[in-house]
Amino acid sequence: MILYDYIITGSGASGLSLLYKILNNKHLSKKNILVIDSSEKINNDRTWCFWENQASDFESIVFCKWNNIKMNGTLSENNYNILPYQYKMIRGIDFYEFVLNYCKSFQNISFLKANVLKIENLENKAIVTTSDAVYSATYVFNSIVFNTASHITSNSLLQHFKGIEIETEENNFESDIATFMDFNIPQTHGHSFVYVLPINEKRALVEYTVFSKSTITDDEYNSGLVDYIKNNLQLNHYKIIHEEKGVIPMTDYVFPLHNKNIINIGTAAGWVKASSGFAFSNIQKRTKQIVSLLAANKSPIIKRSFNDKKFHFYDSVLLEVLSKNKLTAEKIFTTIFKKNPSERILRFLNNETSVWEDLKIMSSVPTSVFLPTAFKKIIQHIFTKS
Ligand SMILES: Cc1cc2nc3c(=O)[nH]c(=O)nc-3n(C[C@H](O)[C@H](O)[C@H](O)COP(=O)(O)OP(=O)(O)OC[C@H]3O[C@@H](n4cnc5c(N)ncnc54)[C@H](O)[C@@H]3O)c2cc1C
Repeated sequence: MILYDYIITGSGASGLSLLYKILNNKHLSKKNILVIDSSEKINNDRTWCFWENQASDFESIVFCKWNNIKMNGTLSENNYNILPYQYKMIRGIDFYEFVLNYCKSFQNISFLKANVLKIENLENKAIVTTSDAVYSATYVFNSIVFNTASHITSNSLLQHFKGIEIETEENNFESDIATFMDFNIPQTHGHSFVYVLPINEKRALVEYTVFSKSTITDDEYNSGLVDYIKNNLQLNHYKIIHEEKGVIPMTDYVFPLHNKNIINIGTAAGWVKASSGFAFSNIQKRTKQIVSLLAANKSPIIKRSFNDKKFHFYDSVLLEVLSKNKLTAEKIFTTIFKKNPSERILRFLNNETSVWEDLKIMSSVPTSVFLPTAFKKIIQHIFTKS
């Protein structure tokens, strides 16, 4: 049996981000790597949006970017300039093609289409069992979530959505403003809002999004989209160019980061922010950390830092407030944006603010709701530990 240096299980956002960064590191680019995925990455199965204040590894495939975002509540509509950040969009298919094409010049990378059944440790290596064979490596970087049921906690929610890319004959969209959240829709199925991401003045991705315990039917997503486009965007004639649907877990479950030589990455490592569902930026940050550790000949295990625990706690409090309907998502997010500079909020949502800045953000939301919830969580934590 070949002993690979690394096996990457799952060639989605985290698997391919890690692979790309490994290949761009002069100490690691010759490592023997096997990448296993059950599906070929040939579809535009998702669109990633994220914000950053500099160009990253994937700048050349950024499909659209915006300097301004809009937050619409039922009573207010506010535009925010987010410089030094830009809100960016990368299409799944462009990302997959970009990384997979880049790999073609490397003889040391193999791809395998197979269903991974289990991953275990054996002595000093990790073993991957697929439906057809067994493979081994010094480290397995795993992005497959094997047991989704274990992530359900009393506060967990699903962020579920359907988006359609529409095209109109006339210029109908302001191409430099992305609607980050528009809560101006019926809150029938849970905390509901719409993103509008203009690709140009005639085309936009309109995404109907809900935070709730369970998903809704396709008809319900469709009627949410149709109503929004007609009533809020005031458009009667448009062509649908592309559709995407998705479910992102919003959970305060503590994901295992590793098991000896098996290192979890992506959703499987809890890199999705529990209170927002954003993960793409965090995936870039964490895979960069792993590559630095590997290049320095160190263990690639990233330990949970004080900062990680701090933001996990905040996310857990916010999830409880949302899941128990103590406040609406509209109230929380529109208030935070109104009362804080957008640069501070975007850093907070990226887990990058100091405790002092966190306090400024927290004092802008109704503390009579958040403080008792936080206090209850601290007490629960103390009692479950003792
Ligand atoms: C539709 C959608 C839109 C999203 N939009 C955003 C966004 O705008 N911004 C943002 O920050 N985050 C977004 N997210 C959240 C997050 O960024 C993505 O889910 C991201 O793809 C997570 O990366 P990952 O590597 O953990 O998982 P994935 O990208 O899902 O990769 C996992 C891979 O594992 C493979 N796999 C699964 N099971 C097996 C098995 N048993 N054997 C072999 N292979 C297997 C899958 O085929 C897949 O290729 C979105 C998520 C979805 C679902």
